Amino acid sequence: MRFDLTANRFVDEHLRAEAWAVVGSDRALRWHELAAQAREWVERARAHGFAQDVPLMVRGHKEASFFVAMVGALLLGAPFVPVDTIYPDERMERIARALGAQIYFDAQSDRFLTVSGKHAITDPAMFVPRSLRERNLAYVLFTSGTTGEPKGVQIGRESVADLAKWMTEDFTLGDTPVFLNQAPFSFDLSMYEVFGTLATGGTVVLASRALAAHGGGLLGKLAQYGVTTWVSTPSFAQQQLLDLRFSQTELPLLNTFLFCGEVLSVELVRQLRQRFPAARIINTYGPTEATVATTWIVVDDTVLGKYERLPVGYAKRGAKVFVDAGEICIAGAHVMRGYLNRDDLNAARMFMCDGQRAFRTGDLGAVDGDRLLFCHGRIDDQIKFGGYRIELSEIDAALCALQGVSSAAAVALRRPDGRVMRIVAFVATGSAEGTLPGALLDWRAQLAVRLPSYMVPSELLTYESLPVSANFKTDRARLVQDYRNHHFKSSFQANA
Ligand code: AMP
Repeated sequence: MRFDLTANRFVDEHLRAEAWAVVGSDRALRWHELAAQAREWVERARAHGFAQDVPLMVRGHKEASFFVAMVGALLLGAPFVPVDTIYPDERMERIARALGAQIYFDAQSDRFLTVSGKHAITDPAMFVPRSLRERNLAYVLFTSGTTGEPKGVQIGRESVADLAKWMTEDFTLGDTPVFLNQAPFSFDLSMYEVFGTLATGGTVVLASRALAAHGGGLLGKLAQYGVTTWVSTPSFAQQQLLDLRFSQTELPLLNTFLFCGEVLSVELVRQLRQRFPAARIINTYGPTEATVATTWIVVDDTVLGKYERLPVGYAKRGAKVFVDAGEICIAGAHVMRGYLNRDDLNAARMFMCDGQRAFRTGDLGAVDGDRLLFCHGRIDDQIKFGGYRIELSEIDAALCALQGVSSAAAVALRRPDGRVMRIVAFVATGSAEGTLPGALLDWRAQLAVRLPSYMVPSELLTYESLPVSANFKTDRARLVQDYRNHHFKSSFQANA
């Protein structure tokens, strides 16, 4: 049994109906149970006014119910909007405002709730469902936005069908792969496993933060369900290496590591090959705006021996990747339909190329004579920290909203290999350098109301005023230099 993403329905319902479909933090569902519960969920969503093209926020963290709701939304034709509980309430409310949504599905309690107040719904007729201008979307995923507002990436159904086709035809994952799903559903990397599982009739094991934490039992659970396909950011795999049991002996069926989202280092590949001699390692690259990934390469011995910094691969079939004035551009059916309500950004970043949607990524890159793509970092202040995509200006905006702060800059401190170690905040308060005004004593808690934990800086330093560069922008490079000289004499490198 599987879910046909083009026909938008379950097919081959008599085949392997008893096989596991989704192993959640709350319960595990077999394929026939997934189908039955998704259909029942559609009726509940309809009763709450949801219909085709009406966006449906799903909030939770790794429950089987979260997965049921995403499949139900696909059946209903309502774009799902995944919001992990790592996002604070305030961020969820901003997302709801952008969507015009008053009700969301809470996967933890398995109920539909009001966005304001989180009450159970007594009279659904009181809420007016609002459909999106874009039709036939599969999902809308909100990523960090430079203005301080998260931006909604609208992904069409044609794009997820394209993703599933690529995964089933080219990745050789086996007939019914068993995926590890670790990234939150609000991070598009997780859509690999959602659509990979649905398209193949495989299984997905959802790893909650508690399960994935040290001593949380992740390896045991993965072994129990016979995981074959590891999907994560390189950062997460790197963390797992600290556990010596993370090896082929513990996970004998694991045959593929599928990476995306940040730089994959030669060092990590080498370590994984020692622990998992039988597994293939695939590096993939792409922004959320182009449905999970666009390029791919199997990092075998030849690739490993040839490059000090690994390439991010070749364009998938049907996609076009090229470099324009140093910037990587992507065209194809998998490129988003645009950011929600952001015509300004759409005009700046999207264009048509040979009759297909195209997107300027903001990544610096180069393509060699064999059409192999290399990614050389960002043009702007977007960073990756522990695998999470962050606009430093979004943190700036949250810092500026703190009482008594007149200007602010968040800065990423990097290791010599370029990986971000931590984020430090610099704020101008008008008072003498180094004094923390009373209103800022609980700055961490204040920021956590608005930002997810991974965006809250680890340190906050106060200045009378912040240095500006020649174009009157805050000089982040100088702040890093200052930090290195005065606060942390080490080998951190500037982000700028
Ligand atoms: P996200 O939208 O969270 O998937 O982040 C997309 C960004 O992550 C890209 O624009 C790149 O800057 C970076 N990225 C994604 N995959 C890779 C990769 N394989 N190697 C290097 N950077 C990557």
